[in-house]
Amino acid sequence: MDAEGFRKYGRQMVDYIADYLENIRERDVVHRVSPGYMRPLLPDEAPEKAESFDEVMKDIEKIIMPGTTHWHSPHFHGYFAAGNSFPSILGDMLSDAIGCIGFSWATSPACTELEVITTDWLGKMMNLPEEFLHSSEGKGGGVIQSTASETVLLCLLAARTRTVAKYKEADPSTDEMQIISKLVGYCSDQANSSVERSGLLGAVRMVKLLSDENFSLRGETLRKAVEADKAKGLIPFFLCASLGTTGSCAFDNLEELGPICAAEDMWLHIDAAYAGSAFVCPEFRHYMKGIQYAETFSFNPHKWMLINFDCSVMWIKNSSYLVDAFNVDPIYLRHSCEGKLPDYRHWQIPLGRRFRSLKLWFMLRSYGISGVQEYIRRHCRLAKEFEKMILDDGRFEVVTQVVMGLVCFRLKCSNKVTERLLGEILADGRIYLIPAFVRNIYFLRFAICAERTTSDDVKFSFQVIKSCTDRLLQKVSL
Ligand code: PLP
Repeated sequence: MDAEGFRKYGRQMVDYIADYLENIRERDVVHRVSPGYMRPLLPDEAPEKAESFDEVMKDIEKIIMPGTTHWHSPHFHGYFAAGNSFPSILGDMLSDAIGCIGFSWATSPACTELEVITTDWLGKMMNLPEEFLHSSEGKGGGVIQSTASETVLLCLLAARTRTVAKYKEADPSTDEMQIISKLVGYCSDQANSSVERSGLLGAVRMVKLLSDENFSLRGETLRKAVEADKAKGLIPFFLCASLGTTGSCAFDNLEELGPICAAEDMWLHIDAAYAGSAFVCPEFRHYMKGIQYAETFSFNPHKWMLINFDCSVMWIKNSSYLVDAFNVDPIYLRHSCEGKLPDYRHWQIPLGRRFRSLKLWFMLRSYGISGVQEYIRRHCRLAKEFEKMILDDGRFEVVTQVVMGLVCFRLKCSNKVTERLLGEILADGRIYLIPAFVRNIYFLRFAICAERTTSDDVKFSFQVIKSCTDRLLQKVSL
């Protein structure tokens, strides 16, 4: 394809995307295909000769869309929001065109410098402690990672290295592997599965601690676990606290957990993958109380901040824990301006990295802080509207307090019946929800996800749930 072809098909694609997102409400939110549906629709081998792009465009509706779940439909209420906005899409387009691999400042200075500035912008928007900012005096700053999972693993590895170094300094004859074999990290039983996985990948114990009746991890629980583990000769070194858990959007108590981490010299990482976006609104910042104890904090603008996947931002107070811990320095990666700005290759697991700050910059300039706040507050209002409909109906109960864009609810009867209700809803196919199972309670999670969700959409989704419930309860004796 030459530049003329790109202009022609680029315009067609932009029109296609604009139509797709503008009219997405009219599509069935979930696919109706079975595993392997695509195999008979495509040849076994790549085409020998070039095809026209007209042919390729035709296959989008024919082959791709039937097997697509429309995550940006206002009728999609599964998981959490996945970010999307036109300025963000344009940012990714330009990033793809520039196509730089910005692993060091020198490989494309704009790529690093815009990331430094936009992560500082974001940090200031959320009122993060000064030490997390590049503009502070110290070694702190933000970096865009691919996912929150990658971030928690990186932090765990940095914490592991820091702790091993401390023990080696105290007794240089100690075997490194012996220290690692004694390390123990903690998270709540509500933490995302990626935290447990980071323990597996980092080859250390990761203990899931029982959260309280509000699914919040409390200081006393951590304190007892730390004392018991130390008595066994283990070395507590890491805590991943969650602000906004995946199951029910619960918040761990940082004000209680933080001082314990400080006293025990444990690395406190805060995973606010979903809820972090809400901290741009001052009324939600009380959940961050205690953040000053954290070594690292991360949230996903690619969840609830209008940014397309991938864009997970992590802040660290002292980047030396990454830069010095994992430093390999072959000559082909060095450059003459080292030390003035971050070489982000040291701040992440992969070497290569995309120009992801462009989409963040485009979105922030197009919406402004007030536009982002309005978007978050609208989603929270819609969740409250849905909660009211559910409670007014009388047959449901809300399982956890609705504080952001997630409503957790169930039928006032057995788990089995709520599970069957989900079956009815998914078979109906007009909306999409997922369940959670916490402390023997099976419930449904209704998340406000799409940027364009309106009150009418929420009413529509409620009506679908209501009619499925009517149908189910005719079949079921309670
Ligand atoms: N942490 C929380 C609280 C989440 O809800 C999720 C995903 O939903 C993750 C971490 C994992 O996010 P990622 O896909 O960016 O690794």
